Amino acid sequence: MNPLPASSIEDRIYVLRTRWEHYVADGEFEQFIEFAVAVNSLAEHFNRMRMPGLVRICEGLENAALTRLGDQSSHPIEQQDIFALQRQMDTLLGAVANSRPPVAERRAEEPSHPAPELDWIKPRSVWLVVAPAMREMASVLGRQLEFFGFHTQEMAWGGETPAGDMPLAALFLPAYGDTTPEEFACISAVRARCPASQLIYLGVQSAIEPIVALMRSGIDITIPSEEESSMVLNCILDLVQNYEQEKHKVLVVEDSRVAVALIQRTLAEHGIDSHAIRDPGTLLDALQTYRPDLILMDMYMPGFNGVEATRVLRQMSAYSTLPIVYLSGESDVGMQVEALRLGGDQFLIKPFNPVLLAAVVKTKIERFRETQRSTRLDGLTGLLNHTAAKSRLKSMVNHLPLHGSMTVGMIDIDHFKSINDTYGHPVGDQVIRGLAWLLKGRLRSSDLIGRYGGEEFLVALPEVSPAQAWSVIDRIRRDFAALPHAHPGGALYATFSAGIASYPLLDTAPGLTEAADGALLQAKRLGRNRVERAALQ
Ligand code: GH3
Ligand code: MG
Ligand code: MG
Ligand code: MG
Repeated sequence: MNPLPASSIEDRIYVLRTRWEHYVADGEFEQFIEFAVAVNSLAEHFNRMRMPGLVRICEGLENAALTRLGDQSSHPIEQQDIFALQRQMDTLLGAVANSRPPVAERRAEEPSHPAPELDWIKPRSVWLVVAPAMREMASVLGRQLEFFGFHTQEMAWGGETPAGDMPLAALFLPAYGDTTPEEFACISAVRARCPASQLIYLGVQSAIEPIVALMRSGIDITIPSEEESSMVLNCILDLVQNYEQEKHKVLVVEDSRVAVALIQRTLAEHGIDSHAIRDPGTLLDALQTYRPDLILMDMYMPGFNGVEATRVLRQMSAYSTLPIVYLSGESDVGMQVEALRLGGDQFLIKPFNPVLLAAVVKTKIERFRETQRSTRLDGLTGLLNHTAAKSRLKSMVNHLPLHGSMTVGMIDIDHFKSINDTYGHPVGDQVIRGLAWLLKGRLRSSDLIGRYGGEEFLVALPEVSPAQAWSVIDRIRRDFAALPHAHPGGALYATFSAGIASYPLLDTAPGLTEAADGALLQAKRLGRNRVERAALQ
């Protein structure tokens, strides 16, 4: 068995294939578990890469495997079950082979612009499948998408699919009325050709049957006719949003060396980061330095037991809601109930089922993060809010390598009060959202983007020179100025000013933000719609 966590898709596919072959050859329960773990890990990987079509196929295979998991005595499974799984494996491998991730498209004007050679614009192309009656709407949507850095290609219903790389998404704009059999056939054909792309259907009636029929033919998202077309932008921009990059982090508190090795191997195979301590006396130190999202707690350890350690943590506000899962050989039900009553979240029995362990860990962490997310993100834009952005910046500065570089930018929309006064607050909100989208689309997932105040944003770009950062932000400034914002009477245009300051000339988070703020003020003084560097840089 391969002890290393697989990294690329190819590695994961290789692991999956070999494990399946081993099981088919020997038919052992353990091998079947390894196979199920490999399918799950591939599904997780596609999910992180935002390839919903492939996630779906993997999950189908995973469910099929789990229903046949059984126990030692049910293996090897029946030949017909092997065939069924083999068919699903083939479908999956075929779909993966067919869908390389899209490659970044360079924009036409780029050669004249001395942009740094960095992959700033995330890869993205969108297919528009357009009925003749929807031409005009398609061209408006196409223009909006191009503004956000997407490359669009049109095709007719039932026509040839565009050549080249797979799109991030395909957008179906049907003629009015019920979906015809030819239209369903076209959707299925695109689904088969682009298993990893998001398929969006615009203009469905709000009723269950038509939506179910569309989903069966391969549509991922349906948008009702009465919704604004900004929903489309929302959906597509969601796909390229800064995905939570943070890994799941688990602290393992366990005195047995063997158990630690088994647990850590299982977690690593599922892409979960872990740190183990064997002496519960060091628990508080480990919590402070490692900052886990969950604790896997052994029940019996020298010194004091898991339940006692949990009771102590539950009395400390910093750890009162941190998920704690007991992992123990204890099989007495009364003892388990008592352990849960005293502050644990779940109880797993050793020897543990690796698939179950990973699933429990992940769902507990996701739920924990979900409750935390609502306090960290801004409701209007989905960006980090003021407090969260500040603390993220602080941690970014603290973790910069010795000769690292980073630029902090403060961005403020110009004459925003008059936009509100002239067009109303909701249109103002739309302008704020527009800038948020542009930033999300243009910056990398490693960059910080926060909504610092009403129409003010904080960004931080690590690992680039000040000149590169300036050029990236200035490029966004020019594109924002050209971005039309819809209002009932037509389109309006807005601009922003920005100030930037760089590490290491300034080496603290407050120092950087203050200097960037000063530069922003200077940009306003000098006439707005410009990016200024802090004076001392
Ligand atoms: P300047 O170019 O100097 O920045 O001019 P300005 O009009 O943008 O000035 P200022 O930054 O002081 O104005 C910010 C305005 O933004 C004031 C406030 O009413 C408005 N605002 C703050 N939050 C929101 C919001 O969430 N939505 C909307 N629509 N307006 C907001
Ligand atoms: Mg023990
Ligand atoms: Mg302001
Ligand atoms: Mg302003």
